[in-house]
Amino acid sequence: MSNLERKIHPSTAVLTAGFDPALSVGSARPAVFRSSTYVFPSPEAAERAFAILGGRIKPEAGESADLIYSRFNHPNAEIVEEHLLPLESRGRAAAVFNSGMAAIMTAIMAHTRPGDAIVYTVPIYGGTQSLIQNFLEPWGILGVPVPGGDAAAIDKAIQHTPHCRIVLIETPANPTLTMTDIRQAVESAARREPKPLVMVDNTFLGPAFQHPLELGADVTLYSATKYLGGFSDILAGVAISKDPDVMRPIRGRRSLFGNILAPDECWILDSRLPTVHLRMNRQSKNAQRIAERLAGHPAVASIFYPTLFKDPEQIRIRQAQCDYPGGIFSVDLKGGKAAAFEFLRHLQVARNAVSLGGVETLVCHPRSTTHSAVSQEELQLSGVVDGLVRVSVGIEDWRDVLTDFENALQQALKVTA
Ligand SMILES: *Cc1c(COP(=O)(O)O)cnc(C)c1O
Repeated sequence: MSNLERKIHPSTAVLTAGFDPALSVGSARPAVFRSSTYVFPSPEAAERAFAILGGRIKPEAGESADLIYSRFNHPNAEIVEEHLLPLESRGRAAAVFNSGMAAIMTAIMAHTRPGDAIVYTVPIYGGTQSLIQNFLEPWGILGVPVPGGDAAAIDKAIQHTPHCRIVLIETPANPTLTMTDIRQAVESAARREPKPLVMVDNTFLGPAFQHPLELGADVTLYSATKYLGGFSDILAGVAISKDPDVMRPIRGRRSLFGNILAPDECWILDSRLPTVHLRMNRQSKNAQRIAERLAGHPAVASIFYPTLFKDPEQIRIRQAQCDYPGGIFSVDLKGGKAAAFEFLRHLQVARNAVSLGGVETLVCHPRSTTHSAVSQEELQLSGVVDGLVRVSVGIEDWRDVLTDFENALQQALKVTA
């Protein structure tokens, strides 16, 4: 690492690090290398590459394992992984996957065996919940749910769950933005021997506003389909660790499962990284302005947004681990489902779609869509009530989105008894 590289900041490094134009015939932006296989300069080089890949010999300092076959590794994956590192404070090793679920599944499967257990916060992303309950549990890996934000319950589960190998935290949680104290979970995990790995799904606030590796977490996980991709036009996932030894088995499983992100998608994701802070800053400012104005609206029963938290413990966690409140809020409408549907029906700027983190504002009704498979009891626990709509704010002029919401709320009022 040169002196220059050591001193530069993340927003510069994302544009300058890890990509050598000379390897792309001088092109200022990386080329796309679609090859499925790579030519060796000699049979000895092929032998050495496979020995490194198989972990039989360690690469020399500065020697990168040669390119072999694109299910293991390819240039566009290497480039985007290098560019992800400066964005994730303390990150030293990254791996890209063909979806967020692929990243989560591979990280868990790389660090558990049948007989092990995972402690995880709820509510958690529906796909993750289903992965644990419907796949990992029958497979012999016990899932122990704990309510997000409840530090005592999380500590108890970490201390008392036999063979606990992973603590998986999603914070803020979808759709009520309940926050879990990452540092407390890290400290609790550190008191167990062997220490479980702490993994944080950082999709909602990272990489701009929340830095789990700084707080002691071992792995951050992303659905890069959301803010990292930023335009609702690719599926991708990311795992980042401060410890290359934690990442090595994850990359090994990726080679086996064949869920590495493809070259074209890597190139697209790479092109979105330099603007992720710009987009997220704008989205957070927009969301804050809109949420704070909607809070007193007569159609609104309550609003869920980090700067509008009332619970002192939630405020404490927000202040301890989040730089800005982010681009997502939820509103509970007084008129229940009928009002929520009427609101969605009358939106003209925002669009009714699931997913989040794109440059365009998206709104959905979790109870009938993303959370429709969740049991009544769990819905109650996670606060997914009939009148709840979730909003992912884009980069539009916030005044147009606010006007759109106010107009649609007037319509919702008509069906509010
Ligand atoms: C979308 C999402 C996922 C799943 O990511 P995919 O890219 O859809 O596979 C996981 N966690 C969170 C918090 C998400 O929002």
